[in-house]
Amino acid sequence: MAKDFSKTPCHGVPREEIPWYPTVKADACIGCELCYVTFGRKLRIPSSR
Ligand code: SF4
Repeated sequence: MAKDFSKTPCHGVPREEIPWYPTVKADACIGCELCYVTFGRKLRIPSSR
C-alpha cells in the first residue's frame, strides 16, 4: 500500500500552498513554445500575457 503524503509538508512547505503545475514567467518568455510541446494543456499562462 502506498504511503499517504497528503498531510506531510514538502520540504517544509504545506502541500496545499504549492502550485503543482508548471507556470510561465511572462517577463522571461522568449516565445520558443517548447513549454507547449512539453506540457500542452497542463501549462498555466499568466493572464497578464
Ligand atoms: S518554453 Fe515556453 S515559457 Fe519558456 S521561453 Fe519558451 S515559450 Fe516561453
